Amino acid sequence: MSKLKIAIQKSGRLSEKSLELLKECGIKFPDFKSKLKNSATNFPLEILFLRDDDIPKYVEQGIVDIGIIGENEVLEQDKNVIVVRKLGFANCRLSLAIPKETDYSNLSFFKGKKIATSYPTIVRNYFENKNIFAEIVEISGSVEIAPSIGLADTIADLVSSGSTLLHNGLKEVEEILRSEAVLISNENLPAESEIILESFLFRIQAVVNSRENKYILLNAPNESLDQIINILPGMKSPTVLPLAESGWSSVHSVVRENEFWRIIDELKKCGAEGILVIPIEKMVL
Ligand code: ATP
Ligand code: ZN
Repeated sequence: MSKLKIAIQKSGRLSEKSLELLKECGIKFPDFKSKLKNSATNFPLEILFLRDDDIPKYVEQGIVDIGIIGENEVLEQDKNVIVVRKLGFANCRLSLAIPKETDYSNLSFFKGKKIATSYPTIVRNYFENKNIFAEIVEISGSVEIAPSIGLADTIADLVSSGSTLLHNGLKEVEEILRSEAVLISNENLPAESEIILESFLFRIQAVVNSRENKYILLNAPNESLDQIINILPGMKSPTVLPLAESGWSSVHSVVRENEFWRIIDELKKCGAEGILVIPIEKMVL
């Protein structure tokens, strides 16, 4: 039986979360750290561990069928691959940063400046679109030290919390793009691989949905049930069960992680009590 080949980063910011995703999809590998290549024992999948920069090229050439990679790298390399779906981890932004003590008003600040970056194509396109000429200095690592060693005036680099910038005496002034890990695929997968990919995607969907949602249970006075049901979107409509105490009901539903605190506040205002929030293991819609 044929196998689907997936490339994931050998070691770096994407590695652990990529393996965790496979694990949560119920895919098992024997002792995967020791090899460059490994096969799942309970799913027709073969993993290749590669440098992240090589993944788009390998997927384009069909050496592997699919890969997990940062959106930023897909945009930078502009290879012929399909972005199948976002995976909800390795969230970061590509931002412009300048020395902390320098005044900044707007993007024209960068006119004629030297910008150090590992993403020359994205940064060049960005400034061309804004009709601003800036000189781009391509470096492959430790971009944040470029201004302090006199290699450039400013930088464009990946940021998540911003603490690396601060440590290096820089401040973030503009966001060029947002990025997260994505699953990419070869443009002409053989029919057999396509079928395996569908079943892999079905599992990924269940895992990513479950991470983005929480199960919520609460007690509500019957007179505010209508209001509370309106606040809770749920998958269909919430489940409402009577409590032993008359005049009260238990309400069960699913809420999105990112709307969670707003919803809790509204529920409390409507008299909800005993609110429990529970992680979801898998979610199939
Ligand atoms: P390799 O040795 O495989 O070439 P690398 O140094 O190029 O590794 P990493 O630093 O491991 O790459 O980053 C891989 C990806 O992780 C980036 O392309 C980006 O999508 C994401 N990433 C980078 N920096 C951050 C960050 N600060 N927070 C979250 N995600 C990030
Ligand atoms: Zn890399």
